[in-house]
Amino acid sequence: MSATTKLDIAKIRADFPLLQTEVYGRPVVYFDNGATTQKPLPVLQALEEYYRSYNSNVHRGVHFLSQKATDGQEAARRKVAQFINARHDHEIIFTRGTTESINLVAYSFGKRFLQPGDEIIISAMEHHSNIVPWQLACEDRGAVLKVVPMDANGDLMLDEYEKLFSEKTKIVALTWVSNSLGTVNPVQELVARAHARQVPVLLDAAQAIQHTPVDVQSLDVDFLVFSGHKIYAPTGVGVLYGKESLLNEMPPYQGGGSMIKQVTFAKTTWADLPFKFEAGTPDVSGIIGLGAALDYVNEIGLEAIIEAEHELMQYASERLQTIPGLRIIGQPKEKAGTISFLVEGIHPFDLGELLDKQSIAVRTGHHCCQPVMEFFNIPGTVRASFSFYNTKEEVDRLVEGIKKSAAMLG
Ligand code: PLP
Repeated sequence: MSATTKLDIAKIRADFPLLQTEVYGRPVVYFDNGATTQKPLPVLQALEEYYRSYNSNVHRGVHFLSQKATDGQEAARRKVAQFINARHDHEIIFTRGTTESINLVAYSFGKRFLQPGDEIIISAMEHHSNIVPWQLACEDRGAVLKVVPMDANGDLMLDEYEKLFSEKTKIVALTWVSNSLGTVNPVQELVARAHARQVPVLLDAAQAIQHTPVDVQSLDVDFLVFSGHKIYAPTGVGVLYGKESLLNEMPPYQGGGSMIKQVTFAKTTWADLPFKFEAGTPDVSGIIGLGAALDYVNEIGLEAIIEAEHELMQYASERLQTIPGLRIIGQPKEKAGTISFLVEGIHPFDLGELLDKQSIAVRTGHHCCQPVMEFFNIPGTVRASFSFYNTKEEVDRLVEGIKKSAAMLG
């Protein structure tokens, strides 16, 4: 039984070697896709091919191998630009991941545009990586952090958002999809309201890129960041999309090779975009792997993926709620990818451990969202996060696993 009639899930699962793996003697049920996704064969093959046949540094050599590696990297940049509908390839900066992309913007935008007393708006449901870099920027620039509150369902309070703006607001940085609650935020609206006040917006798309079509031009968003590893690509590579006009105004984040036009001991000038922000040797294989991952997603079709995931989420939500004492944390208007829950009287860590022993991988804890846990006054949650390659049978195993664990603990 597959999650949808449109996708051949059995065929798709055959593309992911890890899904064939056994843990403690049983096929693994992998419901930790919010943390990282598994990698399909075309991505693994792209990595192997790179290292076997054209491993070389990029933008540095005239020799054949270096040219081929450079072409591979730049083709991947084009694929990313197309995937999110960026106007220019050079608006795509490769980083180590979402975290580094946000740090880059917080540092560089902060250095250029933030003055003492200026204000930055984030939200109550941010991942630590969209909180801490802004706190560092505040400390560095004397700026102030303001936080959009959420309601008990896990929806942002738009009226309160509106009230946070002032003459001093310089940037808004919000998550598109919450990694701890699954909330899909109304990003079009959030961006439009900030733009009505000429305030630029950064969207953290770490949990959106794999579950939602992303079109940076129609959103008119100023910065958008994500990690490759959450969309079936290798770890170690991420993306910062930024509008050319803003990126051109911002100073480099790191200095070193590749990001310069000319170096003298008296003065150094910067390379043009995107290289101004790409100091040092990039993760060439990872970038090429990201290109292969996006090809894979395009081949299957993001629409079909979204439909399959939606159906699976619906099924999981209904089935989980049949478990006595189970409480879903976060019931927002729109949800993607993630269901967080608690079972009455059971600590999330204990439940996670017992599920692990039944070969079911879920996440437990605060999910790098301690303020969210504080808001709900809970120590953490158990989080099941889904991908289109998961099945309803796996959801059934989760439900049975929770019941069995509850019986053992209770
Ligand atoms: N933002 C969100 C919403 C996330 O879910 C994550 C990772 O879980 C991050 C940021 C950080 O991503 P990374 O660790 O790949 O930099």
